[in-house]
Amino acid sequence: RAKTHQRGGYEYFTRNMGVEIRERVLLMHALRAAFEHERLFLVYQPQIDMTTGKVLGAEALLRWKTDDGKFVPPDQFIPIAEYSGLIVDIGEWVLRSACHELVHLRSLGYVDFQMAINVSQAQFSHPLFMQTLHKALEETKAPPKFVELEITESMAMKDPDLLIKTLHQIKQLGVSISIDDFGTGFSSLSHLQKLDVDKLKIDRAFVNDIQLDTNEGSIAKMIVQLGQNLGLSIIAEGVENQMQADTLISFGCHLAQGYFYAKPLTRTDLHAWLKQKENI
Ligand code: C2E
Ligand code: MG
Ligand code: MG
Ligand code: MG
Repeated sequence: RAKTHQRGGYEYFTRNMGVEIRERVLLMHALRAAFEHERLFLVYQPQIDMTTGKVLGAEALLRWKTDDGKFVPPDQFIPIAEYSGLIVDIGEWVLRSACHELVHLRSLGYVDFQMAINVSQAQFSHPLFMQTLHKALEETKAPPKFVELEITESMAMKDPDLLIKTLHQIKQLGVSISIDDFGTGFSSLSHLQKLDVDKLKIDRAFVNDIQLDTNEGSIAKMIVQLGQNLGLSIIAEGVENQMQADTLISFGCHLAQGYFYAKPLTRTDLHAWLKQKENI
């Protein structure tokens, strides 16, 4: 049947494509152009120890500002970058830029600063991923000990054997690993035990569920206990107020990231933020 439509097939399909698909194709072309014209940049959201106020480091987050000054949210363009394969080049650029910034921060005197970098499924399962990571570290001279990769639970389910092998290689480089959005991916607990990871990141949804005097914080609490039992460190994402912070601390989770402490900052703003922190 497809063959009978071969002549003028492209037009036929574009004319009949759903609005949604057409929008995604347009977005994909725009994303590629934006990447090529260096319209993508990183912002950095500080991570801190809630009990001491000490800065741990930051998570690098990708931003896309279009020519007319609008921001496309990463939740919208990362999936497009993933299925178009663009994520491989974009991800390599993210890795290098974040490592480069880490080295810059060290030169400013922030020598304990940890840089957390998101890595997506398509990037991670690419056969050249380890080589890319190795090269990024070597060429930027970023110390692996201060680099952390954030992966998601769903990766653990797609190809467990590949994941275990890759995690092992990453750990051998000295880079640490955290599981992002933990609790949303339904990975089995027996599986988690087999994975050589360092940290669990409690998903923002569970932090948001924390309410005073109710049971709603119980998932966050369970994740903290699970992490403690497995000897992993725990960080909460999306902490927005004092009550959530206090509750998390009472659960035994001391590390956090969230608007209550700092929004994602441009590199210049991050430098100013760090400097002002020192002066308190
Ligand atoms: P994520 O890795 O879970 O990042 C945390 C998200 O929560 C960020 O959204 C951050 O801005 C937001 N956030 C942090 N604290 C708060 C808070 O207190 N309140 C609220 N409402 N939100 C908070 P963002 O920057 O929009 O990124 C969304 C997702 O896009 C990320 O979720 C990550 O999965 C993906 N992403 C971002 N940058 C990259 C990247 O460089 N590579 C890959 N593969 N994915 C990325
Ligand atoms: Mg993340
Ligand atoms: Mg997260
Ligand atoms: Mg999240």
